[in-house]
Amino acid sequence: MPELPEVEGVVRDLRPIVEGKTIESVSLSDVVYTSHEAGKQAIVKNAKPSQFELLVRDMKIDKLERRSKYIFFHLKKDDERFILVNHLGMSGAWFVVTDVLEITEEKFRKHIHAIFTLASGELLVYADIRRFGELRFIKEIADHPPLLKMAPEPFDEIACDFFIMQSEKPKFAKKPIKEVIMDGQVISGCGNIYATEALFKMLIHPGKATNELSREQKTTLFHVICDVLQESIDSGGSTISDYRSINGGAGTMQHRLKMYGKKQCVVCETNTESLVIAGRTSTYCPQCQK
Ligand SMILES: [Zn+2]
Repeated sequence: MPELPEVEGVVRDLRPIVEGKTIESVSLSDVVYTSHEAGKQAIVKNAKPSQFELLVRDMKIDKLERRSKYIFFHLKKDDERFILVNHLGMSGAWFVVTDVLEITEEKFRKHIHAIFTLASGELLVYADIRRFGELRFIKEIADHPPLLKMAPEPFDEIACDFFIMQSEKPKFAKKPIKEVIMDGQVISGCGNIYATEALFKMLIHPGKATNELSREQKTTLFHVICDVLQESIDSGGSTISDYRSINGGAGTMQHRLKMYGKKQCVVCETNTESLVIAGRTSTYCPQCQK
């Protein structure tokens, strides 16, 4: 699943290509239509597919912004402003092409769910193999309350204090530290990969109860998470399974990971073990991480 660095990579790639351009029309896949007819809401979340196609038409893409693991397309039509919120889910990917045949990876080309035709003649294409991604057209953030509950951006000055404060709440204090740092209401954008890496760097066992860590340890852990996220942003993110940056581009952070997906500890060569925490496989070194 793309985490903050991967989403940041997508936004940095897309921004210079789509900002300032106008969406002439949008076309959603038959799968999106059929799913809505069956009472499910594949990909398009708060509008009927036909409504969505009308809503987004003739909007200018004023600005692109990443917030946590979301992409905000700030849209403008006359004096009115809207936001198209995108979450990439497990395997969402964006492409900008002049013909969909330019999408060379068949697994993405076969799972195109939205084609935004830009006035420039380019196609802004959203593909999603597993269809856990989201496109949500809203007027303002408050229209989708979960967005209001997101922790501050990890690089914001207040983010560390916010993390400490949240981690001391009864709701989080007794939970495993890994579950807490992966919770978007505590820290924004840190998922399984970077939580695994940060805990290994700190030699903390992922299942350790949050309240067993001192404030000082939590503060250091927070800064280690930020460092890991920044290192990954600088490497273009991790290219693991179905994540791609735009047009199928790949990051290189996967080569720098020290614990995620490893069979052996790179420090002591002990075989790694894993636990399921908050539904995610948590790999750790039983020797180094206490
Ligand atoms: Zn070890």
